[in-house]
Amino acid sequence: MISTPLKLNDELPLTCSRTGTCCHGKQVFLNPWELACLAKEKQIPVQTFSELYCDFGGILLRFDGKKDKNGFPACSQYIDGFGCSVHQGRSLACRLFPLGRQIQNGEANYIYEGTSFPCLNGCPEVLNLPRLSVRKYLIGQETSIFEKAQDAYLEVVQNLADIAFELLLDTGLVGTGETKTLQTWRKLGSTSPNNLALQIGKEWLDALLFPDFDCNRENVIEFISQHNEKLQQLAQDKFAELNNFDEIQAASVQMMRIALYLAKAVGANPEILAEYWVEIAKENGACE
Ligand code: SF4
Ligand code: SF4
Repeated sequence: MISTPLKLNDELPLTCSRTGTCCHGKQVFLNPWELACLAKEKQIPVQTFSELYCDFGGILLRFDGKKDKNGFPACSQYIDGFGCSVHQGRSLACRLFPLGRQIQNGEANYIYEGTSFPCLNGCPEVLNLPRLSVRKYLIGQETSIFEKAQDAYLEVVQNLADIAFELLLDTGLVGTGETKTLQTWRKLGSTSPNNLALQIGKEWLDALLFPDFDCNRENVIEFISQHNEKLQQLAQDKFAELNNFDEIQAASVQMMRIALYLAKAVGANPEILAEYWVEIAKENGACE
């Protein structure tokens, strides 16, 4: 998809006309901290929020509400005639829209998808509303803490993938010349998040999505760092005694599966990531 790169000083028709157009027919992925924030806003347990309002095991907000005039269903959090029922806790994707955020070479850039300003599609009236700079818009939407959460979870993704690498490269598995591990890693990159969730299984999924820490704006980094530790500990406990190369191979695949599932939740492209990691493993002696 072509995107339009933006500078912070760019002035765009970023005053929302509040018609709720973009709360219909969209895909909103959630990282575990965002999921916890939404549940807190709704004043229900995270597991309940996930069951009632999410798909793909809990990383995608469900859009199953009343259809708009174009036939697009409303987000499960949208109330007709009122708007977003979780406005204070809404996720980064909702805060950013119509903008997006891309990370390239460790640097975040703001964009909008396509070459025509996205709001013009359903809300052409924005042209008559005050223009705002990208910087001012982001401040108004309070994106900064949510961006920190996104970046911190990207590091968790890498940490989980690192365990998959260690199991493949540091256990003697790579020396057997086996090819199944990398073949499976690559396939996982194009496996749907729903199937990944099913394959991951309840114990890991619960650890990944419901870390059971209180979420608030002040503790985002602490929340994610504790979550990271919890996941690392679970991996240590589960993989402390692997008895043969088949078990090691299965463990490496499981960690890659979990890393790619979380990658999808944080808006990364699992297919590109899987291909990249396969190539890195090959450079380190693994076979495909
Ligand atoms: S499409 Fe743009 S103007 Fe319309 S409701 Fe969404 S953010 Fe507001
Ligand atoms: S969470 Fe709120 S802002 Fe985001 S799509 Fe749903 S209703 Fe709209």
